[in-house]
Amino acid sequence: MTANKRAEGSEKITLKEHIALIRRGLRMLRSFDTKAFSFHLLASAVGSLAPYLPMYMSAVLIDLILEGGRLREAGICAALTVGLTFAVRMLEAWLDEARDERDWLQELGELWAFSEKAMSLSYQSIEDRETSLLRERVEKDNQSGANMWELMHRSKAALSAAISIITAMIMLSPLFIGPALSLTAKLIILALIVISTAIKIVSARLASEHQYAQSELSARWNLVFEHTNEYLFSEGKDMRLYGTGSMIVEKNRQVRDETAALKTEHQKKKALISLPDSVFRGAVQTVIYIILIVSAMRGGVSTGSIIKYAGCLLALMSSSSDLLNSVTQLLLNNRFLRRYFSYFDIPNEMYQGSLTVEKRDDREYYVEFRDVSFRYPNTDVWALRHLNARFRVGGKLAVVGENGSGKTTFIKLLCRLYDPTEGVITLNGVDIRKYDYDEYMKLFSVVFQDFRLFDFTVGQNVAASTVIDGERMKLVLSQAGIAERINELPEGAGTYIDKGYDGSGVIFSGGEKQKIALARALYRDAPFIILDEPTASLDPEAEYDIYTRFSAIAGDRTAVYISHRLASCRFCDMIAVFDRGSIVQTGSHDELLGEKDGKYAELWGAQAQYYAADEDKKE
Ligand code: ADP
Repeated sequence: MTANKRAEGSEKITLKEHIALIRRGLRMLRSFDTKAFSFHLLASAVGSLAPYLPMYMSAVLIDLILEGGRLREAGICAALTVGLTFAVRMLEAWLDEARDERDWLQELGELWAFSEKAMSLSYQSIEDRETSLLRERVEKDNQSGANMWELMHRSKAALSAAISIITAMIMLSPLFIGPALSLTAKLIILALIVISTAIKIVSARLASEHQYAQSELSARWNLVFEHTNEYLFSEGKDMRLYGTGSMIVEKNRQVRDETAALKTEHQKKKALISLPDSVFRGAVQTVIYIILIVSAMRGGVSTGSIIKYAGCLLALMSSSSDLLNSVTQLLLNNRFLRRYFSYFDIPNEMYQGSLTVEKRDDREYYVEFRDVSFRYPNTDVWALRHLNARFRVGGKLAVVGENGSGKTTFIKLLCRLYDPTEGVITLNGVDIRKYDYDEYMKLFSVVFQDFRLFDFTVGQNVAASTVIDGERMKLVLSQAGIAERINELPEGAGTYIDKGYDGSGVIFSGGEKQKIALARALYRDAPFIILDEPTASLDPEAEYDIYTRFSAIAGDRTAVYISHRLASCRFCDMIAVFDRGSIVQTGSHDELLGEKDGKYAELWGAQAQYYAADEDKKE
């Protein structure tokens, strides 16, 4: 099943799943930063108890005064009320402060978990558009407050409401157990609480549907907005040229207006749904006060207790409502959390092998493709079909063929960026899927046509690490033919590439970047070194020069050269000719040219004419 299908939230979540999602979410939150998590919960527990203290103490105080003005006790009681309330509020403030200080660690923890997952994803998953859509979608959900933020805050609110309910019930127990109220009064109060809870359950459920719809709209709108903004703020040569900017702004405005209208509609419905709840709660408050005052007049409860019991009853009702609200929101958030976890649950099928790759000093490796066919995910066209090839590692192999004939795909399969759809690839007779993935990957250094350097220093780019072996760095920079240029720079290999991180960074030319990428491949010292047309933007002679020069530096490594220009690879020991996803010929340049009806001779003829025309122009 693909990532997005897993994430579709259409089917109902069972109670068991709800509990599992919340438990997993809380465990994850705790793993981001245990202290922040504990401070959050402690702060809300203390906060929920705080209002009951003055409520209880005020009742005692009023009764003391009314009972005959025992001023000394009343004074002590007042001082205690103020002192204790102050102490509890201070504790709450300290916990809040401590929590605020650690909140960013929790946020960092989440960001890190996201990046770690991205790093552990196979290339195949990363390239899959459904995965990137899922990731973007989850990020937007996060930005609109769903997932972990919502889970943390709603769990806190639920905990605080639960503690408040228990406290209120304990404080109310004398009222209900004792003879203070008539049975009828007790039953009326209980009935009112039950009815108001029932109304709250229904209204919270209905309102949550509208809230979900609103959040979905926000996330979608953010997604559209970010994409169009990216385009508007990019270089946008064509946008300026064709004046597409205003069209995009207009389209954006339309989507925004439609989204805003829909959101307002949901907001209105939500407000309407919560109206009966608010009205009923107002009525209940009045009835409770009347019952308690009547009971006080009959001597059932003391005057001070009216404040305490009324406060507790109202707190009980509002806490029940808060608890219901929090639980409803937690259940609603689970729809987002399911999508959130579906990102973390994307499997990495590449990590199933465990065999150690044989470390051979003689670098004698045999690679075989046995009837390999491959289709890219979500496509139905074969990029490679029934491909058979066997070659000994250690020589110079060329992979040639027209654009789109499958050369890069062949390399991606060889390096296990993808696994074959059919057939097997073996290394020294063993299916490459059985090897430990990271170890197997280390066999290869590839410079792809669309290689990427990062806005770090030259040294860090070449070493692909912050720990750099200086001698090795010097050697590979000079082998790649870029040492002189780097040495001229005041910071040498410590110079930043581009200006993304550091304003003093240098913008290197395309050719210079290619050489830095070559140095990176050489630094890794892998038995296989592959050049996948990183020189395609250069003219054919320059490509030939680089390829032959590279051949001298490659030493005993297996060098694989890929090109659609046959001339660039004519020096190789073995040339594999690709045509429409299959290898149609293999041999040396001379052997292949000898096969007059072969693809190689045909391409050579066509390209030779082109070079001749090029030469004519130069003359
Ligand atoms: P070459 O390297 O010889 O130019 P490729 O191996 O890049 O050829 O492409 C072989 C075929 O696979 C082409 O038809 C191409 O369109 C298709 N292809 C390449 N990359 C992808 C991809 N990421 N998704 C879907 N199809 C792809």
